[in-house]
Amino acid sequence: MPATIEIMQTDITTLAVDAIVNAANNTLLGGGGVDGAIHRAAGPRLVAECSTLGGCATGDAKITKGYDLPARHVIHTVGPVWHGGVRGEAELLHSAYRRCFEVAAENGVRSIAFPAISCGVYGYPMRDAASIALSAAKEAVGDNPLLERVVFVLFNNEAAQVYRDAAAALGIL
Ligand code: ADP
Repeated sequence: MPATIEIMQTDITTLAVDAIVNAANNTLLGGGGVDGAIHRAAGPRLVAECSTLGGCATGDAKITKGYDLPARHVIHTVGPVWHGGVRGEAELLHSAYRRCFEVAAENGVRSIAFPAISCGVYGYPMRDAASIALSAAKEAVGDNPLLERVVFVLFNNEAAQVYRDAAAALGIL
């Protein structure tokens, strides 16, 4: 059976999935927004493991354990900072999602939850980011028969509606 793609309004740190994705920065040593929330909920062992990884390039992804989180793993990715769309932001954001799905497949992850990568402090327009996120999920579901569940987690109802509209436009939901 193909994986389900869901859009959910909640706090990503509460989800008991195989992996939650962290919208991290290049250092992987923690930050604000969803990154700070994930580190707080996972406890200090998370930053200890992250500090052994040598950072992460924009558009790449690395996996750790989930420690005190209900999720078994955290996949840390770094999305692009929005500069108006002229610095390869769309390709980098697509790459961030694709790499998360690749790392998930390599680690036997069957259920994965994503925040809206780059849509907070990094300033990526939510509508464009939603299309990229959902397209990447559609591709990954086709490529990875192990995958059962992909959840897009939005913090507020407005963002969730943007995702629902983008999914409808792509024929996903
Ligand atoms: P970035 O630096 O990649 O822009 P942010 O953490 O600033 O990352 O924001 C990414 C998105 O995550 C924003 O839409 C923000 O509202 C959302 N967010 C923040 N905290 C959480 C959380 N606990 N669960 C889910 N989404 C969150």
